[in-house]
Amino acid sequence: MKIRELFDEKKLVYSFEIFPPKPVYPIDTVFSTIEELSILKPDYISVTYGAGGGIINNRTAEISSLIKNKYNIEALAHLTCISSNEEQMQYILKDLESKGVSNVLALRGDIIDNGETLGEFKNSQDIIGYAKRNSNLGIVAACYPEGHIESKDKSIDIDILKLKEEAGADYFISQLFFDNNYFYNLLNKAEQKGIKSPIQAGIMPVINKKQIERIVSLCGATLPSKFIKIINKYEHNKEALRDAGIAYAQEQIVDLISSEVRGIHLYSMNNPYIAKIITKGIGSIINSINEIPLSTSISGN
Ligand code: FAD
Repeated sequence: MKIRELFDEKKLVYSFEIFPPKPVYPIDTVFSTIEELSILKPDYISVTYGAGGGIINNRTAEISSLIKNKYNIEALAHLTCISSNEEQMQYILKDLESKGVSNVLALRGDIIDNGETLGEFKNSQDIIGYAKRNSNLGIVAACYPEGHIESKDKSIDIDILKLKEEAGADYFISQLFFDNNYFYNLLNKAEQKGIKSPIQAGIMPVINKKQIERIVSLCGATLPSKFIKIINKYEHNKEALRDAGIAYAQEQIVDLISSEVRGIHLYSMNNPYIAKIITKGIGSIINSINEIPLSTSISGN
């Protein structure tokens, strides 16, 4: 099933994101994470694609297939194109389809340090259009509430979003953000631009200081003073910081759902504990607006 259809069936789509284990670890180290996440009955689980890409040992496809075929949960396989050629992209798209995966998150990917690319795919619209022409997959794309880190003129980002929709993107998942106003701003601009595809809000519960420093350097997300206060106050107390990070993410989600956003994508970082606590905290809120309950196991006390 194309995930886009879920946005037509439900008022709110709720999903998780996981990443494949590094090649030095056996692939089954992620299996227990999937098992635990599946109990929470998300609408789908997305699986990231290694930076720089690579078709050999494509664990993204294998893990996505397991999510779909063993747990009967829709899977969204991420795919980056910047370091690949058409033959490689064609191989991956066909491989996903043959494994029963129906959705792909079509990304350009980060340009690696030496700036080298194969040159066949220059931006996300190239791979979105290519996947549209060469597969029957549902196609998803990324969006950036605070603008993409490379964009010198953030105002053109909304034009790029429109180009992604025109190239064939069914819906969008946002980069993480810690101030909901950036997301609301993006929704307003998208509406003004005539973008009709749903935009799902990406939320990352922050549980340690190193993680947050890395994220900020990678994607440039703004840290609101309320958030910085929490980090500074609890940085030396692991449990307190984790709990404060979860509470902050829950507050963001409650505000987003109350503002009628179309979906929440939780960057669950292979941490089922965090996903469980957050989902339990917001389960009754999600169930109050969706006719199909999220999961009986989490909506109770
Ligand atoms: P693009 O849409 O191509 O945008 C990249 C830059 O080029 C932007 O500055 C944009 O403004 C500019 N641009 C795009 N099109 C044009 C145009 N036509 N004319 C002029 N300028 C243009 N990375 C991974 O390696 N693996 C993952 O699994 C992964 N998952 C992600 C999931 C989500 C939800 C998000 C938000 C990001 C993810 N990323 C992942 C990171 C992503 O690969 C990077 O943010 C990358 O730098 C941009 O990818 P994109 O598809 O948004 O690129």
